Amino acid sequence: MTTELAIQTIDLTKRYKQRLAVESLSLEVQRGEVFGFLGPNGAGKTTTIAMLLGLVRPTAGQALLFGHDVQHDPVAALRNVGAMIEAPAFYPYLSGRDNLRVLARADGVPPARIDAVLAAVELSSRARDRFGTYSQGMKQRLAIAAALLADPDLIMLDEPTNGLDPAGTVEVRELIRSLATEGRTIFLCSHLLHEVEQVCSRVAIIKAGRRIAQGSVRELLQRGQVVQVRVVGAVAPAVALLQQVEWVRGVQHDGDLLLVDAPAARAPEINALLTRNDILVAEIRTREESLEQFFLEVTEHTT
Ligand code: ATP
Repeated sequence: MTTELAIQTIDLTKRYKQRLAVESLSLEVQRGEVFGFLGPNGAGKTTTIAMLLGLVRPTAGQALLFGHDVQHDPVAALRNVGAMIEAPAFYPYLSGRDNLRVLARADGVPPARIDAVLAAVELSSRARDRFGTYSQGMKQRLAIAAALLADPDLIMLDEPTNGLDPAGTVEVRELIRSLATEGRTIFLCSHLLHEVEQVCSRVAIIKAGRRIAQGSVRELLQRGQVVQVRVVGAVAPAVALLQQVEWVRGVQHDGDLLLVDAPAARAPEINALLTRNDILVAEIRTREESLEQFFLEVTEHTT
């Protein structure tokens, strides 16, 4: 079966006794995109990844990878998938290369891949050093190298910069960006908005097991835009007028200052509309909330 979707979940649900860890989650990740799966701690990200990898059985719903059902056809579904879902467990006294050799042998991966993945994560020059001597960032990069061994089309990374110092974080983010340019699909789980914003093109935000937003980073950013208008007098007519406009998502006012929840690009139209209706505009400007504010807002206010 060919499909443009690398990942599709349909009403995917996981219940642990009374706790709904993941609730009716529907996601679509296109081939070749870097998709951010963002949510605060405990939101259900790891449980979702575990269901995608066939490690946890869903209570209901379906997970498909490249069109293959993970539960019913795990071999086909997971054939082109690499993952890093927990802190890497390597032998500290073996070199980076020897650690990969052990894994490659176990997984039937040709030894030639080892040098390729070491180069991809920029560890070639330290490949002979013992793993125990690596920095946290290098350890994490070796874990990503391990996930790349079988040359997967889809790579899932669960909190890849967890526990890293700022330098290690930068190293790993740069690595993710470079992997993205090779045409692989990347599914990046993180509770760090900043991380997702920097490397992902599309994002789903989950909270308490439920998807509360999904879209391109740009779209989500636009949702955080507000056009601020100061009118002379006529506040109530201005509010009434703007509330009727299709692309205005809401209007609040504080004295003569109107906060219009609308894309910043619409500011000239707002100005023209008010002026046409004989409402004098004293000031108009756009205010952009960061995706950070948006993320905090949606994760705070949605229960
Ligand atoms: P974090 O970033 O903190 O790991 P997360 O978004 O990955 O969070 P999950 O680890 O998927 O979230 O957990 C989602 C919810 O399910 C949490 O409330 C967690 O306590 C619960 N949970 C996870 N695994 C189990 C389990 N094996 N048994 C019972 N409850 C679980």
